[in-house]
Amino acid sequence: MRYILDKRFKLRGWDRLPNAVVDRKGASAHFVDVRTMEALRLRDGKVDFSLPLVPEELRETARRLADQGVVHEARQGEVVADNQRYRLYPNRYMKSVHWSVTGKCNCRCRHCYMSAPDAKYGEISHDEAMSIVAEMGACGALSCSLTGGEALVRDDFWE
Ligand code: SF4
Repeated sequence: MRYILDKRFKLRGWDRLPNAVVDRKGASAHFVDVRTMEALRLRDGKVDFSLPLVPEELRETARRLADQGVVHEARQGEVVADNQRYRLYPNRYMKSVHWSVTGKCNCRCRHCYMSAPDAKYGEISHDEAMSIVAEMGACGALSCSLTGGEALVRDDFWE
């Protein structure tokens, strides 16, 4: 019997927190012990758990993870996607980023702590913004909330 990690999940790790199952729906990480991670890394749709050389402990872990909906029995030819495979980020765990993408705004509230609409603290360029996006990806940030100013006044917001 072959098991495979459900498409909803991917395996990740960070400095000091190297074993996590990330739920893509909720952008949340569930940290697991080393043995569970070892077992999960074998749930790639290729390893046959009915073979006698597979320890009973791994079989038991597979059943438990299947009960929890983390893995399921692999269909013929089904293999885990590359982006679900284990990846270790060299930095500390970064659950979320709260990013003020602009100091500009189309309102003029008197209490504004950003001093919008004038972007008192300056604006970053398009290239700088895209570089930050790439850096968040490279750090394994699970989610990012965007604010301003008014985030939508950036011409490159959707990009
Ligand atoms: S950023 Fe918020 S508080 Fe500031 S002017 Fe715009 S809407 Fe008002």
